[in-house]
Amino acid sequence: MTRTLSGRTDHVVVVGAGLAGLSAALHLLGAGRRVTVVERDGLPGGRAGLLRLSGYRIDTGPTVLTMPDLADEAFAAVGDSLYRRVDLIPLHPAYRASFADGSTLDVHTDGEAMAAEVERFAGAGEAAGYRRLRAWLEQLYRAQMRRFIDANFDSPLDLLTGDLARLAALGGFGRLDRRIGGFLKDERLQRVFSFQALYAGVPPARALAAYAVIAYMDTVAGVYFPRGGMHALPQAMADAAADAGAELRFGEPVTRLERSGERITAVVTAKERIPCDAVVLTPDLPVTYRLLGRRPRRPVRLRHSPSALVLHVGTDRTWPQLAHHTISFGAAWRTTFDELTRQGRPMSDPSVLITRSTATDPGLAPPGRHLHYILAPCPNTDIGPGAAAWGELGPRYRAGLLRELDRRGLDGIEAAIEVEALVTPTDWLGQGHASGTPFSAAHTFLQTGPFRPRNLVRGAENAVLAGCGTTPGVGVPTTLVSGKLAAARITGGVRRRPARVGGVAR
Ligand SMILES: Cc1cc2nc3c(=O)[nH]c(=O)nc-3n(C[C@H](O)[C@H](O)[C@H](O)COP(=O)(O)OP(=O)(O)OC[C@H]3O[C@@H](n4cnc5c(N)ncnc54)[C@H](O)[C@@H]3O)c2cc1C
Repeated sequence: MTRTLSGRTDHVVVVGAGLAGLSAALHLLGAGRRVTVVERDGLPGGRAGLLRLSGYRIDTGPTVLTMPDLADEAFAAVGDSLYRRVDLIPLHPAYRASFADGSTLDVHTDGEAMAAEVERFAGAGEAAGYRRLRAWLEQLYRAQMRRFIDANFDSPLDLLTGDLARLAALGGFGRLDRRIGGFLKDERLQRVFSFQALYAGVPPARALAAYAVIAYMDTVAGVYFPRGGMHALPQAMADAAADAGAELRFGEPVTRLERSGERITAVVTAKERIPCDAVVLTPDLPVTYRLLGRRPRRPVRLRHSPSALVLHVGTDRTWPQLAHHTISFGAAWRTTFDELTRQGRPMSDPSVLITRSTATDPGLAPPGRHLHYILAPCPNTDIGPGAAAWGELGPRYRAGLLRELDRRGLDGIEAAIEVEALVTPTDWLGQGHASGTPFSAAHTFLQTGPFRPRNLVRGAENAVLAGCGTTPGVGVPTTLVSGKLAAARITGGVRRRPARVGGVAR
């Protein structure tokens, strides 16, 4: 039994209507709490935001939606359903990987289709390796999901369970790249199943093999796209929360919390004072700690993940070689991670994610137009260029990126641009994200599980944290879980479905 808040918790104020806040709100409503959500922006979603630009609907944050059942759990808490509210389209292929030698590989979620693709790409031996890898990923997911990801921790000792032994036996505490290399010899295939470590903010050579669970989520469990764009997910969650009785206030930044001793008694914005029995705080950690008037008591400063430069372009043409998601790998690999995490330089031979959402939903752009979202990882502002430097570097890096993509086959891309938006670490800083990265604290071993900033805070007995800075961590599935775990700290119960491998409940 994990710790829960003491005292009254009838009215809970949730600060932030990102995925974590909305998930917390739905789970709290389901447990009979009165809920008020207070959000500084004019719309829900937070990092999963929406930019409307000259008739284009641009998703500003996540584009790879995995594990939709975790979102559905939040809807189910209020007797609603994700699948009724949002038209989720499974992506086939989940990704296309495009390599510097001109070869391409489609990542299929279906095991047999993927084994056939791997055989075409690299021969029967590698296809057999892929089958073994897939079985291992499934075991790894089963060993981790309920005990390490979907769990509140009160102490590192909570880790000491049979699942820890199972995870160790599966090699979860070895290095990710070596473990993947044990299944696949082809260096291009190794990349396809290990690049996901960067989502967790750690290079594959330094990441724990346990992080292959992310590769499970996107290469085995599958990638989905909501019709209307990714922002349809937080919008539907906000609608479901409102229909279940939540009060949602948008455009109201919380400026301070009122206290009486160790209890937060009210949440204050420029417009109003909202009395509360408990509060869930979901902004990035520095904002949350500032509101709480506390400094975290960590002996060592948090290490933050690399950041990303995102270039959104609306174009009058597209390129048939692009799938919905295409990863365009440069020739460089280890040096790329070195540049991002040690040298603090933008990638010299970039590997980028290109999302062409109009391939699945043409309605996201005006007729005959196309959307391309180009995400290039870059150093955060702790180790790389600072906020001021990006003013000049951003446009220069954009121009180099477009030249490189033109050379890699997106011929004429610059001339095809009708509208564009460039987002750099300076913008992430401006949104309050520590170290100029929207990907929060990196998932190094000492910043993971019970070692990640906890969701309970010393000295504030009716406050709980949720969101990517706390447990379990960064990403859509994990922040949805963090909202549920925060709610469980208040209500005392984690509602769970049995851990299932693959598939989506309907
Ligand atoms: C460019 C990008 C690409 C990504 N790609 C993927 C992907 O493909 N797949 C994936 O799984 N994940 C991806 N992620 C990560 C994922 O989007 C995030 O981890 C997740 O959305 C974070 O949700 P959150 O609720 O923790 O934080 P947020 O979304 O930041 O929510 C916090 C909310 O609090 C609000 N707030 C802040 N301060 C205040 C205040 N003072 N008063 C009131 N409200 C306040 C903010 O406006 C915000 O709405 C991506 C993120 C980005 C930015």
